[in-house]
Amino acid sequence: MRLTALLLAAALSAVPVAAQTAPKVTTPKEALGFNLGDDYQVANYTQLEAYWKKLAGESDRMKLVDIGPTEEGRHQYMAIISAPENIKKLDHYKEISQKLAHAEGVTEEQAHALAGEGKAVVWIDGGLHASESVGAQQLMEMVYQMVSRTDPETMRLLNDVVQLYVQANPDGQELIANWYMRGSENPNAPLKDPQKRNMNGLPRLYAKYVGHDDNRDFYMSNMKETTNMNRQMFHEWFPQIMYNHHQTGPAGAVIFMPPFRDPFNYNFDPLVPLGIEMVGTAMHSRLVAEGKGGSAMRSGANYSTWWNGGLRTVTYFHNMIGILTEIIGNPTPMNIPLVPDKQLPQGDWPLPIAPQVWHYRQSIDYEICNNRAILDLASRYRETFLFDIWRMGMNSIEKGSKDYWTVTPKRIAALEAAATAEGGATGGRGGRGGRGGGMAAGGDAAAGGDLPAGMTPGGLGARTVSADLYDKVLHDPKLRDPRGYIIPSDQADFATATEFVNTLIKNGITVMKATSSFTVAGKSYPANSLVVKTAQAFRPHIMDMFEPQDHPNDFRYPGGPPIPPYDITGWTLAYQMGVQFDRIRDGFDGPFTKVNGLLPPPASTVMGPSSPAGYLISHQINNSFILVNRLLKANADVYWLKKPATADGQDLGTGSIWVPASAAARPVLDRGAKELGVAVHAVAKAPAGEALKLKPIHIGLYDQYGGSMPSGWTRWLFEQYEFPFEVVYPPALDAGNLKARFDVLVFPDGAIRRGNAGGRGFGGGGRGGFGAAPDTVPDEYKDRVGRISDEKTMPQLQKFVESGGTILTIGSSTSVAEVFGIPVKNYLTEKGPDGKDRPLPREKFFIPGSLLKVNVDNSNPLAYGMPAQLDVFFDSSPVMKLEPAAEMKHTSPVAWFSGPEPLDSGWAWGQQYLDGGTAVAEATVGEGKVMMLGPEVAFRGQPHATFKLLFNGLYYGSAKAATVQ
Ligand SMILES: [Zn+2]
Repeated sequence: MRLTALLLAAALSAVPVAAQTAPKVTTPKEALGFNLGDDYQVANYTQLEAYWKKLAGESDRMKLVDIGPTEEGRHQYMAIISAPENIKKLDHYKEISQKLAHAEGVTEEQAHALAGEGKAVVWIDGGLHASESVGAQQLMEMVYQMVSRTDPETMRLLNDVVQLYVQANPDGQELIANWYMRGSENPNAPLKDPQKRNMNGLPRLYAKYVGHDDNRDFYMSNMKETTNMNRQMFHEWFPQIMYNHHQTGPAGAVIFMPPFRDPFNYNFDPLVPLGIEMVGTAMHSRLVAEGKGGSAMRSGANYSTWWNGGLRTVTYFHNMIGILTEIIGNPTPMNIPLVPDKQLPQGDWPLPIAPQVWHYRQSIDYEICNNRAILDLASRYRETFLFDIWRMGMNSIEKGSKDYWTVTPKRIAALEAAATAEGGATGGRGGRGGRGGGMAAGGDAAAGGDLPAGMTPGGLGARTVSADLYDKVLHDPKLRDPRGYIIPSDQADFATATEFVNTLIKNGITVMKATSSFTVAGKSYPANSLVVKTAQAFRPHIMDMFEPQDHPNDFRYPGGPPIPPYDITGWTLAYQMGVQFDRIRDGFDGPFTKVNGLLPPPASTVMGPSSPAGYLISHQINNSFILVNRLLKANADVYWLKKPATADGQDLGTGSIWVPASAAARPVLDRGAKELGVAVHAVAKAPAGEALKLKPIHIGLYDQYGGSMPSGWTRWLFEQYEFPFEVVYPPALDAGNLKARFDVLVFPDGAIRRGNAGGRGFGGGGRGGFGAAPDTVPDEYKDRVGRISDEKTMPQLQKFVESGGTILTIGSSTSVAEVFGIPVKNYLTEKGPDGKDRPLPREKFFIPGSLLKVNVDNSNPLAYGMPAQLDVFFDSSPVMKLEPAAEMKHTSPVAWFSGPEPLDSGWAWGQQYLDGGTAVAEATVGEGKVMMLGPEVAFRGQPHATFKLLFNGLYYGSAKAATVQ
């Protein structure tokens, strides 16, 4: 009796905890007028913002945080949700999460204690790719459920986990929701009938400049939203698990979720891929347990974990478990088709789903199930996840504090080559270069006991080699990983090196600055040099930004077609930005102090006599273009000198900038030197000689209805470097009279595509306005509808060039050359059986986004200020063959491939075919010029080392020959 009473009392005291906190909060229907997931309804960001503010006022489980402005000027919000007693101590739990993630100075014992006391931190975002509309809607529903539900599981999740809900692209949600719902309030609109609503024909990019590439910006952090989210992940909260929602699922399935296929990146801690397996499996299990079929993994799609740079993937290089899902779903009901292949249950799709009509709400329910699966695991394994992020951080610190060797595919190839040279092999191997390598050919398989016939004890196709090669080859002392990197402050463009370091700082990397000159490994470095040591928790990210990516050869089968990567294969940011640095392979120290916050450009001044003849400026500094743009705007004269110049003992490189003294120039130079890190050298006497005199230019930047991402990135870049420009659409080009409006027209990759154009192959979201019924295109976008055509556009472009205009083309748009009769052909061909040239097949040549070395003629104005050799970003880019007549036709190569191995980072199958091919050329046509830049010289705003080709190309065509005296 007494016992029963006690139990009853205990039960009563347990239940009311939930009941007491059963909160009355506004439902989505009360706030929006519809339930989230109702057919034909989508909430926009204005509604999300208002609703979250309301909930934050009503619930003590929620704190709303403004994490920074968006590119269009909205406030980007993050909803923090946890138990009310946790919400009161958020700073405390944040500090624990941060200490464990940084690991530095925390012992194993302390880590266990902190893990015991801390709360798991889980990040869940939505809406990054705005047109994948389920993401933002599930986020709103999830937040509502977490502040309103009182079931035991919800209470446990609130108690154990600090949950971060982030709208990843507010501007995009506003655009797409309003687009889908357009006409809903106007009885005369063509889309008044809800059943006619659709997402088709979005008029512009759903992220102001970059559209879908908003998920390609995370190590670079060019965009404001990226910077906001990086700050929350790598400076504030350090989530142990993050979940990044996407669409759309594979045909015949509902959703793709991890585990992922190989390759994973050798830089990250093995606990990362294992954590992904663990969390992914828990998600599939929960869906299946709830009878929710149609989830696929691994071979179910081509997603992998190789690449850094996405919202999800950047977290791997920070010891975090990043989850991506790709679900189907649309406010307009859709159908799941019957795909025979997806009906037989197997490891990668355990519970097939029947073909059926699919409603929006079903997708939201799947996503909520996934969110809860992650929170449940984070709750149950709270201490393990918290401890493991410390373990990974400490592993990194240890690797950076001693001799350590990263094993990459090239090192394995070296090991095998060494073994072959020694003749020490004890087994055969079924073919090189492919995955799925086949059974071992011969060897000691019989010794394998329980192994299936034909398999060696080492595994599928394994070959064993002499063990002493482990130390000799894999631990070659010359190839130890660096203990750190030094970026000397006396390099030609230190302002750009400083920008590089800022990308690291935004990503939570500790950077140090020398307070005085110092010597390391026998080399002396000036004060202000920058130092990045690798003994820190996020070492994988450091290694990834400084070292080449060595992507494995990845084929369907040996000799078969290559498997395209999920994104790109090589991106080493220090190379892309042309940063000069030294690798230091022994422990080192110096007068270093930690950099707090972002570094401004190194301040400079105007040096030299006070009443000079003029000023010399190095063309090597990218920021010098900002200065030139400001000078021309102020009506000052600007020249590029043909002969290399020196000033104050410094080599200023080719195309040095000469600014004659004037009242207009001086204040611009004073301010520029101070703000932009551009040294300005006043000189008593003008540097006599030949020059090009720049004129202020009118730039037309091509774009199209729907928006092109390469054009959007270029637009952003022009704004950063203060180029005056106008965006121009096909109808305006077709209208002609272009020379009266523009000096130079810029066509990024994807704008023009003729014949075997090469190039990246997806220019943007728009297809010239197709997809939107013409009568539903709002008036403000009507003048964008159309495409470049041979009949209407090309004759106008031809007139423009012949009368003195410049056409600057990148990637596939270089194929416009044929229209002007410029004698260039595709270099990457072979003789077919009919004796005619045909493009090299993918089995022979495949370079999907890598960094390749080119030689540069920097005496050509298009390449002024550039080094004689550098890396370009190459993504199936066009490579030109200049016909023998080229010189006669005033066509000059400006950059070209030389040698059998131009690959510096990534994967370049068949790279030897590039030898002798032209990457960049310029041609004179009539009175004008055509610039052909094959590689992606401005790709995603990253390759600062090649921005000059674009920037020079803008001015070069209209500059006039002049003499400085
Ligand atoms: Zn997506």
